[in-house]
Amino acid sequence: MKNELVGSIFRDIARILEIKGENRFRVRAYDRAAQVIENLGEDVAHADKEGTLTGIPGIGKDLAAKISEIVATGSLKFYEDLKKTLPPGTLELLTIPSVGPKTAQLLAKDLGVKSVDDLEKAIRSHKLDGIAGIKARTIENIEKGIALVKSGRERLGLAQAESIARDFVRALERLPQVEKVICAGSLRRQKETVRDIDILVIATDAQPVMDAFIALPAAHTTQAWGSTKSSIRTAEGVQVDCRVVDKRSFGAALLYFTGSKGFNVRLRQLAQKTRHKINEYGVFDRNEKLVCGRTEEEIFRFLKMQYVAPELREDTGEIEAALEGSLPRLVEAPDIKGDLHVHSDWSDGSNTIEEMAMAGKKAGYSYIGICDHSQSLKVAHGVPVKDLAKKRRQIDAVNRKLKPFRVLFGTEVDIDADGTLDYPDDILKQFDVVIAAIHTGMKQPARQITRRILKACENPYVHIIAHPTGRLRGVRDAYEIDLDEVFAKAKETNTALEINSYPDRMDLNDINCRRAQEAGVKICINTDSHSADQLGFIRFGLAMARRGWLTPSSLFNNEDALAKLLRKR
Ligand SMILES: [Zn+2]
Ligand SMILES: [Zn+2]
Repeated sequence: MKNELVGSIFRDIARILEIKGENRFRVRAYDRAAQVIENLGEDVAHADKEGTLTGIPGIGKDLAAKISEIVATGSLKFYEDLKKTLPPGTLELLTIPSVGPKTAQLLAKDLGVKSVDDLEKAIRSHKLDGIAGIKARTIENIEKGIALVKSGRERLGLAQAESIARDFVRALERLPQVEKVICAGSLRRQKETVRDIDILVIATDAQPVMDAFIALPAAHTTQAWGSTKSSIRTAEGVQVDCRVVDKRSFGAALLYFTGSKGFNVRLRQLAQKTRHKINEYGVFDRNEKLVCGRTEEEIFRFLKMQYVAPELREDTGEIEAALEGSLPRLVEAPDIKGDLHVHSDWSDGSNTIEEMAMAGKKAGYSYIGICDHSQSLKVAHGVPVKDLAKKRRQIDAVNRKLKPFRVLFGTEVDIDADGTLDYPDDILKQFDVVIAAIHTGMKQPARQITRRILKACENPYVHIIAHPTGRLRGVRDAYEIDLDEVFAKAKETNTALEINSYPDRMDLNDINCRRAQEAGVKICINTDSHSADQLGFIRFGLAMARRGWLTPSSLFNNEDALAKLLRKR
């Protein structure tokens, strides 16, 4: 799909116009168009062919013509010309958090810095020291920003890894020799970041599979081309390994290549106790005779332990639990009956309330919470108090139409710099669901920022705290926040904490989810969808929940949660 390309070109245009001090409405129009296109369920090339581009929200004639040009030629003359007006490297520098338009221009123009790597070198050789307009504190922040950008490049986010892997899996499944394809590695364990992708295949004949694998369009460079194992790199530099394994060893191979390493070491030690050996080919007795290995289940049974879900295989207590037979019943997709954090076009979402509700219904939910931003969050078109009654009426109308499906009238209310909420209590109490969140003042010291969240928990109308640590992968680290204090207060005030499933957030992550559950806190998995097709992000939140040992009794995504919300009102 060309959507991503169109989105990234429009975003770059917005940044360039911003640097040039252009009218901010024009800047905003490009940013909004980028967001809409990236979130569009349909391929823009298709809309272009059908002549329906101008029917997309935020796309007028001018932008439609630009999209057509990108679809037809893969580039945009207007953009190429615009880029030439900036010193080279300026846009790349802008990807570093804490580098704004002014600093980027200063670095690129006056210091000739052309890339992130260049900038790192310049800092190391103290070229930035003493330059007017760059304080020591700024240099420190830039260094942190560079580290974030680089860590984001080195490992893929789970969503990105999944989408790359999916293309390979689908292509391999189509081969006539192939019986089964499955991804192993940290992707199967659903880690929040993945380094490379491991694919295992059962096939009647291995060589044609290997030949087809390295010839796939997504296989940019071949690293290794063997008879049962090959490796390639994609154009983005991601390594993908593909192995054809014997049916009789498939379970052993799957276990071995799923890892984690620590988990596998423990299993091998367990087998050694009965003088057996486990490797990627199976379980063998002391005479090297194959005992089992066809399925993972067989191997766990042989070790006299429960089957351990891949998400738990980190050697953090799951082996002991599996030997005792006390593994938790992890949450599963059907346990999730609703998504309480979605946006509509009343704030910065791209679909109407009804479209979001229909998508929720289609996802099999029994309810959805429309939680648009509150009044002060102008960048995200927060809803002013005067419009709330009208919004409520619209929700009531959708509810009449979609009964028994429920659309909840909610808000994602901003927590101000001093912990005050962005709507007064007599407004908050009118909502069915109130989610409180921090979107500004994220660099405050630990004491201050923790206190803001504690104060929000104490508000009787707040049901959930959204994205509790505020981290954005590759962009921003978590706030300096004392989570133990937050957990204690959330439990005391009966406030749920969110696992935000948005791919760059995944916040709470696995570790913090586990801590929260141990502290007795209820956890709500939400998507923070800004368009209907983002409801599918729920699987990433579910991944964090399962990795965090979450059981259904701690989950705030069901009829009980709904009853509590409505009772409170
Ligand atoms: Zn938010
Ligand atoms: Zn949100």
